[in-house]
Amino acid sequence: MPNKYCVANWKMNFNGQQGQDFFEVLNSKDLNKGQSQIILCPSYTSLFSIVGASKNSAISVGAQNVHYEDSGAFTGEISVKMLNEASVEFVIIGHSERRHVFGETDEMIHAKMLQSIQNGITPILCIGERLDERESGNTDKVLRAQLEVGLSDVKGEYIIAYEPVWAIGTGQSATSEMVVETHASIRSILTELNVSEKVSLLYGGSVSPQNASALAAVENVDGFLIGGASLDVDRFYSIYVNL
Ligand code: PEP
Repeated sequence: MPNKYCVANWKMNFNGQQGQDFFEVLNSKDLNKGQSQIILCPSYTSLFSIVGASKNSAISVGAQNVHYEDSGAFTGEISVKMLNEASVEFVIIGHSERRHVFGETDEMIHAKMLQSIQNGITPILCIGERLDERESGNTDKVLRAQLEVGLSDVKGEYIIAYEPVWAIGTGQSATSEMVVETHASIRSILTELNVSEKVSLLYGGSVSPQNASALAAVENVDGFLIGGASLDVDRFYSIYVNL
């Protein structure tokens, strides 16, 4: 069985104190109630403090992005060695905002996958189609290309998150039927690519306390990647409990 994960992507939200406050409230709740591993992904400036706080807790920490080179003239970027220094265990790679706002290509994402795994950080590879791609019947084609390039020669542990671009931050989650169908397609593409059945496949896109239990019940959903609802500790915890 794949492991289950409940991942909070805080994006460019929360200052250091707000992140700490969230962590403390979450950590004071019963974290044996859910069945998934919680991963908080704060901004870079909060990584050291949240990792420090999370020692001896059931909560893990990830970064939201990483560069594919070890070091060099890449102003504003963070290397995987720097993430190692901060002792993060996970990193989100290829989030739709990185792809569509910052122009990351599948080839860059692939290089980040290799770089993270080679340096002992578990990547969470995000894939997903835009609305026009879904409406023109190209969802599977888009996901296949993202998986084929992103996972080429990638060996080691990683997580995959299916996040339809049109569902991210819109309040319009994919329906359970869409998730059943699309996760089944992704699983069959993964099987063709010889990816182990143990690789976890998360869903992301407007997950909320209201839709979490229906989406969690869908076959092949091994957890959630959560943006907006991860900024409210009670909403995030309620999703975690429903997973
Ligand atoms: C995300 O940012 O990955 C995400 C799924 O956001 P939201 O939950 O707000 O749709």
